[in-house]
Amino acid sequence: VTARRFRAALTWIDGRFQPDREIVVDAEGRIVRIDAADGHRDGGAADDAASSAPGEVCIELPNRAILPGFVSAHSHAFQRGLRGFGERFPRGVGSFWSWREAMYGLVERLTPEEFERLCARNFAELLRTGVTTVGEFHYLHHVDAEVLDFGLDYRVLAAARDAGIRIALLVTFYKTGGIGQPLAGGQRRFATPDVSAFLKHVERLAGKLDAATQSIGIAAHSVRAVPAHDLKTLHAAARANGWPIHMHLEEQPREIEDCIAAYGVRPIEWVMRQVDVGPEFTAIHATYTPAEWLKRWTGAGGFVCLCPLTEANLGDGLADVAALNAAPGKVCVGTDSNARLDFVEELRWLEYGGRLKSGLRGLCADSEGQVASRLIDFGTANGAAALNLGAGVLESGRPADFFTIDLRHPAVQLAPHEMLAESLLFGAGAETIREVFVGGNPARVPA
Ligand SMILES: [Zn+2]
Repeated sequence: VTARRFRAALTWIDGRFQPDREIVVDAEGRIVRIDAADGHRDGGAADDAASSAPGEVCIELPNRAILPGFVSAHSHAFQRGLRGFGERFPRGVGSFWSWREAMYGLVERLTPEEFERLCARNFAELLRTGVTTVGEFHYLHHVDAEVLDFGLDYRVLAAARDAGIRIALLVTFYKTGGIGQPLAGGQRRFATPDVSAFLKHVERLAGKLDAATQSIGIAAHSVRAVPAHDLKTLHAAARANGWPIHMHLEEQPREIEDCIAAYGVRPIEWVMRQVDVGPEFTAIHATYTPAEWLKRWTGAGGFVCLCPLTEANLGDGLADVAALNAAPGKVCVGTDSNARLDFVEELRWLEYGGRLKSGLRGLCADSEGQVASRLIDFGTANGAAALNLGAGVLESGRPADFFTIDLRHPAVQLAPHEMLAESLLFGAGAETIREVFVGGNPARVPA
């Protein structure tokens, strides 16, 4: 592959759509620079870069707007297999915990082949909705729980490679089936009984990645699954290796009650007492975390990842969006159970959930009152930062990960260009998305 230049009607740069830009991408799939389409380098001296160099391919995208690829910072791809299931309630209302039983049922019966197929299918659907990077919080490790083979870790990487999505594989530590309790049933396929053996496995896996599109990090599943001394060891390893570390935190009231009963403090406080939280650490959900603790967490540099569609589907609730918006660089978004995949809809429901809870509008507004551009930041640059990746921004030196909106699609066709972001975020979704590129290469997206 040679260098390519992508020329669209509009390109999302510096928080707005700008007309007549060209994204120049090198053979390695990195953005070299962004030119003005009239042939002059944007903001720099015109030189040999002004027109197409020999061997450079120009990709014309008329009637298209380019956006940086979305980053789903939190996903469990195999849970795609539960879609549509667990949505009947013959015994009366359900909860997160009854859903979890259905999920464990899936875990017990999945074969390695089915697991890989589900993951590949899910990654392809993510690409279709504009998600070019996935943070895969991967805890279903073993084909055979008796021998702890970690066979499914290789399967999830193969599925990502097959689909063509960029992946940060967050290899997940899962030791106990509840605070101080042994693993039971389906949980045994998650087992990582020994933290040093687990870290050796992570290092081995890190040596087998496709360097162009795959990276590694770790996760501590939750307060339920990870004892204090192991959390300390995991965090130290993350710091030493430059790995991101993610953890489910305060998703459910019962989790908080159990933690207070066992340790005397709520989960987020417990974590902050064990380790020195910084930008390497992402709390997933923080649904029941008080504003004061969100401020301490983000103030220390930690990220918070919300997954509004899954949180709605599971009946979890929604975090204090207004409090989080006070730390706008620290909020990212994930698709979690992947029950419904439309990343624009996912972002929209961050704001809408806040509106339903508060009776107010514009909870995710920036200092200029703009919500759409801030939601896009949550869904792109912030997610990439939480995975310690450079994606999510269209500028030189970054991976050429982006997708296009069809400006002739009825859902956005009447929008003036200065209102396109709002029209997309509040009035449209994945149906407007056409081409998707990862590292400058077109992704094969399902029709
Ligand atoms: Zn999750």
